[in-house]
Amino acid sequence: MAPNNDVDHDKLTTAGQQHKRRSWAEPYKIKMVEPIRMTTREQRQRALEEAGYNTFLIRSEDVYIDLLTDSGTSAMSDWQWAGMMLGDEAYAGSKNYYNLEATVAKHYGYKHLIPTHQGRGAEHILSQITTKGGDVVPGNMYFTTTRYHQEHAGAKFIDIIMPEAHDPTFIHPFKGNVDLDKLESVLKEYGTARIPYVSMAATVNMAGGQPVSMENMRQVRELCNRHGVPVMLDATRAVENAYFIQQREPGYSDKSVSEILLEFCRLTDGGTMSGKKDPLVNIGGWLSLNDDALAEKARNMVVVYEGLHTYGGMSGRDMEAMARGIEESVQDDHMRARVGQVEYLGELLMEWGIPIVQPIGGHAVYLDARRFYPDMPQECFPAQTLAAELYLDSGVRSMERGIVSAGRDVVTGENHQPKLELVRLTIPRRVYTQAHMDVTAESVLSVFTQSQKPKGLEMVYEPEYLRFFQARFRPLETA
Ligand SMILES: *Cc1c(COP(=O)(O)O)cnc(C)c1O
Repeated sequence: MAPNNDVDHDKLTTAGQQHKRRSWAEPYKIKMVEPIRMTTREQRQRALEEAGYNTFLIRSEDVYIDLLTDSGTSAMSDWQWAGMMLGDEAYAGSKNYYNLEATVAKHYGYKHLIPTHQGRGAEHILSQITTKGGDVVPGNMYFTTTRYHQEHAGAKFIDIIMPEAHDPTFIHPFKGNVDLDKLESVLKEYGTARIPYVSMAATVNMAGGQPVSMENMRQVRELCNRHGVPVMLDATRAVENAYFIQQREPGYSDKSVSEILLEFCRLTDGGTMSGKKDPLVNIGGWLSLNDDALAEKARNMVVVYEGLHTYGGMSGRDMEAMARGIEESVQDDHMRARVGQVEYLGELLMEWGIPIVQPIGGHAVYLDARRFYPDMPQECFPAQTLAAELYLDSGVRSMERGIVSAGRDVVTGENHQPKLELVRLTIPRRVYTQAHMDVTAESVLSVFTQSQKPKGLEMVYEPEYLRFFQARFRPLETA
């Protein structure tokens, strides 16, 4: 057939692509808005100085787009707010507690539920009832509060994550996986007598929100069974982990996030939860245990530190909002939008050649500060510096995850020197739009291409515990 010269083939191709394109959008619409304040560079400079160059110390009112954390910053749904009105504020035996207990059993599969005021409350109790001086706790990379409570109870933390997880450029679909040989040698060396449990996190926050595969979890379980050691899960982001298994692991694409979550948690003996993450609430947490005797101990201890075992530091309405938040969090559509937004931001930055941790994690995009400032020594806090520069440029607030967060060795007092020197852009759930992601990406690009690079910071105040929250800094003079 002769070509039809009247047709513009270029236009047709574009139209064809447009036709094939299928965007997805958030599975909700906006019913109420919260205005945010725009600031000038001068105002931000002043705010930064007052905050000692620590983004944790900046007032929220001085922030434009707040990507400090996804902890407790989620937007609740109308169904959750409606649940708040059904709070049963009885001191003992609130009906909202029983609803939460049933919801956790349904989706996470755990038998006993001990509510706490937030995740670290649960970590504290778990460590106190299982751990003694001289113990070791193997885990797939540390988390700040988790490791603190393990060490506070007398244990030493041993990192058993695959070594490549410490390399921000290494691509692996399940970069949160355990190095099984390493775990086996630790189990052999210390045995049941000195290992209270293996501490599994999914996804791994400090590695960049990287998931653990079902296969790896199954092998961890088998190894631990052979050595008689329980497995405890930091379940804070386990729903995001389940979504990655659905997307990436052979054999799971036809299963729902909720089915995968249950299968994953069944490989563990209990879990700690920060309700401020996956469960879509602003405060709350829990400890779950399958072992009756251990749960008895936890119920006993929660009374001392948190509150009666049927509220543990939460009001009835908070427990109801969390039960409903869990129901919403395990929906496939929710997770696709949640992780999809994080990926949108990450892909934009990658397209522009900005160094980020790959693959893009579940809750945040991590900027590789070492590659923003290749000449800055780690003692000058490159990630802390980058977070400050980003705030100054646009009012976007992020968080350091590098040498400041890593803190000091409890025994020697020396600074831990983590390989990763990162700045975390953490996306709150259901809060910001794609336009906010565009503004953020453009600001990162502008800081990345700065011609006058900062020299770094010096620490002028260092708190004793979890120093990243309250440390203060001063800029080093530009020569
Ligand atoms: C936030 C978090 C915690 C601690 O929970 P809080 O509610 O902040 O006390 C523990 N583990 C992980 C992976 C977290 O992200």
